[in-house]
Amino acid sequence: MKPAAFDYHRPDSLEEAVTLLAELGDDAKVIAGGQSLMPMLAMRLAAVDHLVDLRRVGELQGVVDRGDALWIGAGTTQAAIQRSADIDAAVPLLTRSTPLIGHFQIRNRGTLGGSVAHADAAGEYPAVALTLDAEIEASSVRGRRAIPAGDFFSGWWTTALEPDEVLTGVAFPRWHGRSGFAIEEFARRHGDYAIAGATVAVELDDDDRVRRCSIGLFGLAPQVERAAAAEAALVGTVAGDVRADEVGETAVSGLDSVPSDLHGPAEYRTRVGAAMVARAWEKALQEARNG
Ligand SMILES: Cc1cc2nc3c(=O)[nH]c(=O)nc-3n(C[C@H](O)[C@H](O)[C@H](O)COP(=O)(O)OP(=O)(O)OC[C@H]3O[C@@H](n4cnc5c(N)ncnc54)[C@H](O)[C@@H]3O)c2cc1C
Repeated sequence: MKPAAFDYHRPDSLEEAVTLLAELGDDAKVIAGGQSLMPMLAMRLAAVDHLVDLRRVGELQGVVDRGDALWIGAGTTQAAIQRSADIDAAVPLLTRSTPLIGHFQIRNRGTLGGSVAHADAAGEYPAVALTLDAEIEASSVRGRRAIPAGDFFSGWWTTALEPDEVLTGVAFPRWHGRSGFAIEEFARRHGDYAIAGATVAVELDDDDRVRRCSIGLFGLAPQVERAAAAEAALVGTVAGDVRADEVGETAVSGLDSVPSDLHGPAEYRTRVGAAMVARAWEKALQEARNG
């Protein structure tokens, strides 16, 4: 199918883009890589009167070292993230999550900002942003603001972004010390969205106690989630005393809106989710111990 007719706009700057959005109001939508929006328009699951193409907006490009965080421009493609040694050094979880997104053709065009703004409940980048307590930055004619990832994802494909705001970049805090990171997911075929997945970031102290731990869950709720109870239970424990399967069980125990669909009922997804947490925990822990 083809999309319904729309007017196409291609601003050259952020100022031009946000001015257009302010003028056009609810009838406009931005497009970045088009890897989620174009299929939705083509299948007529969405319709717009005006499409504002962000590809020429230079302010959405680049990687900036802010010391305690790495800022990555919203327009950075998933493929560019995968290739960047700077990103791998500062935010290894982002690099490791990237090959799990679709296929390379999709990653050549799909962007960080598009993935985060699209906010799929099974999206890897939303899960990584939430796990690492990233800050999501947005601009409009009213100014700029930074939104903590914990306040950003609010339901099925729903975020804190206002319709006239452009997501400009994401600041990922660096983790220091003896840290480890892992992402695990289960999908029916390579390239499919995950049925369930988990991200783990852990930091150990010199006595092998868990100093800090973040567990992200995706595909297990209307939006990506943090397993706060499991994280709290882990902090302060000696890593060697922790059973991975118990971490998995605790992480999924509080979930009350696990989706049921043609890929499997909620009980199945929950069991898969627990197994993914357990695997990711073991991998992240191993890396932290070696670090
Ligand atoms: C076959 C297939 C498999 C896929 N598998 C996966 C997968 O396993 N995991 C996964 O995470 N994704 C998957 N995707 C989606 C892919 O990652 C998309 O690239 C991504 O979700 C959207 O990025 P985009 O740049 O293409 O955004 P677009 O499609 O251009 O836009 C998506 C949405 O975000 C909004 N948006 C985009 N950029 C901005 C911005 N800067 N500011 C404000 N709003 C913005 C748009 O208005 C739109 O609502 C898959 C896609 C396909 C076609």
